Amino acid sequence: MSRILDKLTFFTNKAPEVFASGHGITTDENRDWERAYRGRWAHDKVVRSTHGVNCTGSCSWKIYVKNGLVTWETQQTDYPRTRPDLPNHEPRGCARGASYSWYLYSAARLKYPMIRSRLLKLWRESKGLHADPVDAWASIVSQSEKTKNYKQARGLGGMVRADWDEVNEIIAAANIYTAKKYGPDRVMGFSPIPAMSMISYAAGSRYLSLIGGTCMSFYDWYCDLPPSSPQVWGEQTDVPESADWYNSSYIIAWGSNVPQTRTPDAHFFTEARYNGTKTVAVTPDYSEVAKLSDSWLPVRQGTDSALAMAMGHVILKEFHVTGKSKYFDEYCRIYTDMPFLVMLEKKDSNYIATRTLRAADFGNKLGENQNPEWKPVIFDETTSKVVVPNGTVGSRWDESGKWNLESKNVNDDSEIWPEKLLSILMMKWSPLRFLILVIWKMNSRFFHIQNMTVYFCVISRHVRLNWMLKMKYWLQQSMT
Ligand code: SF4
Repeated sequence: MSRILDKLTFFTNKAPEVFASGHGITTDENRDWERAYRGRWAHDKVVRSTHGVNCTGSCSWKIYVKNGLVTWETQQTDYPRTRPDLPNHEPRGCARGASYSWYLYSAARLKYPMIRSRLLKLWRESKGLHADPVDAWASIVSQSEKTKNYKQARGLGGMVRADWDEVNEIIAAANIYTAKKYGPDRVMGFSPIPAMSMISYAAGSRYLSLIGGTCMSFYDWYCDLPPSSPQVWGEQTDVPESADWYNSSYIIAWGSNVPQTRTPDAHFFTEARYNGTKTVAVTPDYSEVAKLSDSWLPVRQGTDSALAMAMGHVILKEFHVTGKSKYFDEYCRIYTDMPFLVMLEKKDSNYIATRTLRAADFGNKLGENQNPEWKPVIFDETTSKVVVPNGTVGSRWDESGKWNLESKNVNDDSEIWPEKLLSILMMKWSPLRFLILVIWKMNSRFFHIQNMTVYFCVISRHVRLNWMLKMKYWLQQSMT
């Protein structure tokens, strides 16, 4: 019935029909308003997509489309099983992603380049005076009152819409000016994360690489992930996927508020507890991840490093220096960089650890013709020889394909058993130790680096202890 008729018959309406013992009621008032809801959720088709908003979650979503517009989205539930003994990945998603389709059509979304109005005004004036855009840019940045004019307005708004041709010309002129005056490596930039879009990533990184600029890591840009990871490994957190948390027996959540910063994977964190996994959160505040953990370590802000150093100290002391542990020993040999030999350099009356010893330091380069300067070496306890193991950075970039981190001699694929640094240093005098030291001494004949000593001249207990302390310090540093 229409709204007007509803009003006219208001006093004559019969009592509504009741059913289901009074739990249900039938009315005949106007229900046109429901069409708005039906229209809101109506769609012509459903497609699969994810959210390219600098997010590495890559969750799979069903996108409902009507007349070419995204109307809403729901999480996909057809992920394949990783393996039978792991929890499902689904459902993946987060509240931020679920609202992403609103952002597509938001009035606040930037669709055009914006530029500070003062700079645009200066640019147009300069372009009127100089035909060459690089000269026009130079005339702005070489005059302090002009640069002050637009730089002092930073943070105060005043952005205006510009067109792509004009801003591209400004950017190109500025880049050329900087490259010519200061060198191309003074042009620094970030490119969008490759997990978001390889094309966007490649566009920026290729541009910077071709001009000789500096391509920064997006970790530096976002500041939400550990910059030391790509700095050390050259890869973006090349780590097992989150489902693997389920296989862990002890998880320390440190530096990540998992439910907030890794929302789609947070369920693995709680599911692991059904597997008997102990979970610990190291956060100054009672955060979401602290709420999910068995233990909460409320470290004081700014003292994380001290805590990590103290933990490293206890581990080394109790499982390596005063106590011994077969597990720790084997773990260090196989999974850590502890066995890599380091150079000791004399400084005053002490020896200090410097860089790692590499195949290139040997006269015969240990048989390594490709990248010997990028192949650090270890001492193989089985053959009593200094060898290059599989999977060092030098192998990663040669053509041997031996980049797997395996305890194998890169030359002949024979199994090796790396000797740990500290165990040699702390070894009592024995025929084996004597043999090792003699071999090092023999090898040292081939070294062609000055000021290098590889602890074969350890004589007095005092010197040995001195070195042990140095190496322990270095190991603690490297472990933390
Ligand atoms: S984590 Fe959130 S924003 Fe990222 S892809 Fe998944 S749902 Fe989208």
